[in-house]
Amino acid sequence: MPQIQTKNLTKQLLTWFNAQRRELPWRDAPCGQRDGYRVWLSEVMLQQTTVTAVIPYYLKFLDKWPDVKALAKATDDDVMRAWAGLGYYARARNMLKCARFVSDECQGVFPRAEEDLVKLPGVGPYTAAAICSIGFNGPSAPVDGNVIRTLSRLYAVKAEMPKNKDQIQVLTDALLPKGHSGDYAEALMDLGSLVCKPKNPNCADCPWVKTCKAFAAGKALAYPVKAPKKVKPTRRGWAFWIENTDGHILLERRPPKGLLGGMMGLPGTEWTETLPTAEQASQVLSVKSSQALPDYIKHTFTHFHLELGVIFMKVEGCEDLAGEWIRPEDLDEQALPSVMRKAIAHARQHRPSQHFP
Ligand code: SF4
Repeated sequence: MPQIQTKNLTKQLLTWFNAQRRELPWRDAPCGQRDGYRVWLSEVMLQQTTVTAVIPYYLKFLDKWPDVKALAKATDDDVMRAWAGLGYYARARNMLKCARFVSDECQGVFPRAEEDLVKLPGVGPYTAAAICSIGFNGPSAPVDGNVIRTLSRLYAVKAEMPKNKDQIQVLTDALLPKGHSGDYAEALMDLGSLVCKPKNPNCADCPWVKTCKAFAAGKALAYPVKAPKKVKPTRRGWAFWIENTDGHILLERRPPKGLLGGMMGLPGTEWTETLPTAEQASQVLSVKSSQALPDYIKHTFTHFHLELGVIFMKVEGCEDLAGEWIRPEDLDEQALPSVMRKAIAHARQHRPSQHFP
């Protein structure tokens, strides 16, 4: 364990937080007095998503579903539609499962203890600790990427990510103030976001500048120590813009599990390392005519890059195709993931003439 004088660190952090805290829509009451539903909703949305992106979604959800019982009654489709564009769609499906569980099994009241919270669908150790501390001032210290970075620098932790997680948890717990864990959690989040930033830490404004080991060594950017980056593979595939004689477009729902599970989108091929030719791809349907658009869209998921081409197809008498036929002007109202919105924008931009072969 790195040696450091921890006396006063918590006090310095909380003093800084009192002066510099961010005003955010989910910080609508002092920590410990917040509505568990609102804390949970914001924390689920903030997983792997920026504060700026989350704010309009958080406000929209609260407006549509002001409490957990209202959300529990929402249809899957309504929730997926409201979530569309926020990414990591498994979160939305788990969120709805969790809302229904809390509504049915917990009388609509979120549990307060970390060990109970972590049993809820879609609530992992971080989210449980965040709800416990921020919502109820319980004895928990959530450790996210901001905390890992800041504490790694403060203590010059040599262990690589993600192996350093347990060590950072111990260091974070050691500074936890009794009865003020919510402020402490939010202070660490704000310090990591506003001051101890990944590329440009603003050490002159940091309450820990006199103690920080990384700063003293002039090596803030060397922490947290990262394992060498794995190169993301690239997958390729085709999306089908299938148009019937009424000019309606076919959308299909993806299988419930897996990437973009349960979301609507254009039908298409699997996404693999080797791209089938447009002719091979088109053969899966007996189509009257088809034309592949030049170029493709690019999209990056957590574990791979995707290059997705679009093939226009005209069909007649294919009412048996699984999916929903949508008027082109109604496409924008559908709950579509970002990659499908990109593919549709690409298709609209490069639409071939009405009489393609
Ligand atoms: Fe981060 Fe700099 Fe503060 Fe150290 S002094 S914790 S590197 S902002």
